[in-house]
Amino acid sequence: MRFILLDIIYPTHCAACGDIIEPGQKFCKDCKSELEFIKIKQYKNKNNKFDRLISVFCYKDAAKRVVLRYKFHGKKYLYKTMAEYMFREFEENYDDINFDYITNIPMSFSEYMNRGFNQTKVLAKALSRKTKIKYKKLLRKKFSTKNQVGLTAKERAENLKGCFENTENIKGKTILLVDDVKTTGATLNECSKVLRKAGAKGIYCITFAMADE
Ligand SMILES: [Zn+2]
Repeated sequence: MRFILLDIIYPTHCAACGDIIEPGQKFCKDCKSELEFIKIKQYKNKNNKFDRLISVFCYKDAAKRVVLRYKFHGKKYLYKTMAEYMFREFEENYDDINFDYITNIPMSFSEYMNRGFNQTKVLAKALSRKTKIKYKKLLRKKFSTKNQVGLTAKERAENLKGCFENTENIKGKTILLVDDVKTTGATLNECSKVLRKAGAKGIYCITFAMADE
């Protein structure tokens, strides 16, 4: 009886559309049917500056709505659901790697003031609690950059050039780099470039969703 009462006071909402759903579920039936798991589990191509990337969902439909609600519509608590899925992928794919630090994609000061939180830091800290790998801020974004939406892959890479810098000694360290979405990979690549230059031995990325190439 107690549980039923709590369900009425604190109903469970679908992470993608906000509809009330059965307790214990994360998505309503319609949104769940739209979710598409990433098939290639360990993504790598020769242009990437990181060693590997894993992700959970294709960045579209319900998975995209989760990210948009999380980032732009005040549903910050969705980090819990996102981190849970990311942790599952982590356990399946990165469990044999000895990580020294978890870190995230930084924001410039004004970007942070505009959004009110850094969505990748919240996810990285949640993953740090789950994996027991130490969270550490390793990068700083020196200046704000144009919104990447609508830019080509080449323009995105150009847009981010030189905006990140390393702030810690990471010589010989293996790092888990967290982002919410991988689109062209420009952001992860630019950060990886800086980490690599600072002496990082291993750079592995994880995102909640990934867009088609
Ligand atoms: Zn839904």
